[in-house]
Amino acid sequence: MSASQFGQLKQQTPISRDPVYNSMVRRVGDRIAYVAGPDMPNAQWEFVVFEDDEQINAFAMPGGKVAVYTGIFKVAKTDADLAIVMGHEVAHVAAGHGNERMTQQLLVAGGALALQFGTSDMDSDQRALLMAAYGAGASVGVMLPYSRYHECEADEIGLIYAAKAGYDPRTAIPFWKRMAAQSNGAPPEFLSTHPADSTRIRKLNELMPKVMQLYQNR
Ligand SMILES: [Zn+2]
Repeated sequence: MSASQFGQLKQQTPISRDPVYNSMVRRVGDRIAYVAGPDMPNAQWEFVVFEDDEQINAFAMPGGKVAVYTGIFKVAKTDADLAIVMGHEVAHVAAGHGNERMTQQLLVAGGALALQFGTSDMDSDQRALLMAAYGAGASVGVMLPYSRYHECEADEIGLIYAAKAGYDPRTAIPFWKRMAAQSNGAPPEFLSTHPADSTRIRKLNELMPKVMQLYQNR
């Protein structure tokens, strides 16, 4: 299902041929895939750079399909920066969040009944977004936010991946702060679903001793 969705996206979205961006994404992607491999034994990894400077965004899909939009390079300047984003996105998939989110998307397609009974564990922001998506007549391709719990989990697993892959996990703190600063007024797409608020930064800081040990002892 996601392989064909990804194939569709690749046909609909211009693909960047920029050699610097592509080699950066492949280099980091290969290392993240290597350390995430045991968690995703059936993955057929594929890394794509989509040409869209307005999208400060990235995502991963079940099956190891990973896409980065060129806009992300406004904030991700180094391999380590990119590893923070890609590690986080791959972590969502490795932890099975993608399937759960896809279920949420099916709920959108399913209609009002699902909205009534399927959203009880969402917070009000998510419910509002889901309602908006439903109201817009959305059926496929709507990027719904993950729950706060899933964000925390993806941050932790993503940092572990980055550290094991040889990228300094401390990069995450200034990276997310830069991401937040990037949003003059309207937050970029990625930030709207990944708020770099003080709670998140505090939790990232709490994870540092553990992941720094992984990074230093690898
Ligand atoms: Zn996330």
